[in-house]
Amino acid sequence: MNPSDLLWFASALILLTNAATLAALAPASLYRRSLFEYAAGLGLCGLALLLLAFRDLLPQLPPTTVSNSLLALGVLTLAGAVLRVFGLAAGWRSLLSVIALIVLLQFLMPAGPSGEPFRYGLVLIAVLISVGVRIVVALRRHHREERGPVLLMCAVLGLNALLSAANLADLVIDPETALRTQRQGAVALAIALISVIAMITTMMVVNSRTHAAWRRQAERDDLTGALNRRAFFEQAALRLSDAEGHRIAMLDFDHFKQLNDRHGHRSGDAALQAGVGELLDLLDGHGMVGRLGGEEFAVLWPANGADADALRVALSRAASTAASVSTTASMGAIRHRPGESLEAALHRADQALYQAKAAGRDRCVEG
Ligand code: GH3
Ligand code: MG
Ligand code: MG
Repeated sequence: MNPSDLLWFASALILLTNAATLAALAPASLYRRSLFEYAAGLGLCGLALLLLAFRDLLPQLPPTTVSNSLLALGVLTLAGAVLRVFGLAAGWRSLLSVIALIVLLQFLMPAGPSGEPFRYGLVLIAVLISVGVRIVVALRRHHREERGPVLLMCAVLGLNALLSAANLADLVIDPETALRTQRQGAVALAIALISVIAMITTMMVVNSRTHAAWRRQAERDDLTGALNRRAFFEQAALRLSDAEGHRIAMLDFDHFKQLNDRHGHRSGDAALQAGVGELLDLLDGHGMVGRLGGEEFAVLWPANGADADALRVALSRAASTAASVSTTASMGAIRHRPGESLEAALHRADQALYQAKAAGRDRCVEG
């Protein structure tokens, strides 16, 4: 085996090891499908390089057109998986345009020993650039903690494109012997090593999203998106310890049992979901809502924020629209006193709520 083919062989082994690692990690991940796709893409690329590395030693292997097609298929599968991990659709249109590009190049490129690798090299660069550009365009939508991995991934794609372009230049300068030079093998090895970084980057994104999803499941109520009781008590107590002034309210839907009985449990669910959703929208991340029991919620928000009754009215309106029946809620709101415990503050808010109910419901009593 000549030194160049040896480097191709080493690259194939790196890619195949990567593929096996990802396939082993995939079943336990929330991103199972993307990771299997990613592993399949790496596996196809690894297999293609393996066939290319042994093309001289084992003449009975399939022709290089098969290996190059496998490589192109692998790169497309990888591109789809990377896009999916970053929350972007791979899209049939982009796949069709890549295939059209391959067919077009078939006619445009000169024949000869380097014609075919050149065509596939161009396709590879086009795919890398289009994936990188789409990820960068989507960067705005990524959470701040994901920006590092996203930028790293784009750098990896860009570097890959550069190395592939260097390969193409080699093919143009010296079409006869370019494929046998050690430089070609070194470039293949560099791309394989970079793919390790790409894989780690992908796992960083997958891990951070999985962590966020599990955290959300552990802290949030499924129906309304409000914090569950435990998370509210933990997070509200922390929030109260900062220097800002806070307001706390207890909120309870009125005659909710009646609404369920007359209009069905689904109407009740829709009212809770829309009402609390509206509340969360209005607080816009500056406050928190906890579901303390069935249709009873605690709200904590900055003292200089929204008016308590305005929040209650907006919640009632959204709940009525969603349930298609007039739905009201009562509220007891207080201003947190410096040094007061969360339990004591909630107790005062609860007393104010009791007064609101006793005074006829559909109102806010400020304690
Ligand atoms: P009040 O005005 O005094 O608060 O009367 P109420 O009927 O709202 O109070 P009560 O505590 O008697 O009943 C609460 C009802 O809320 C009973 C329960 O079926 C309903 N409820 C609790 N959780 C849910 C839920 O997740 N979905 C639906 N649809 N109903 C719920
Ligand atoms: Mg009620
Ligand atoms: Mg209640």
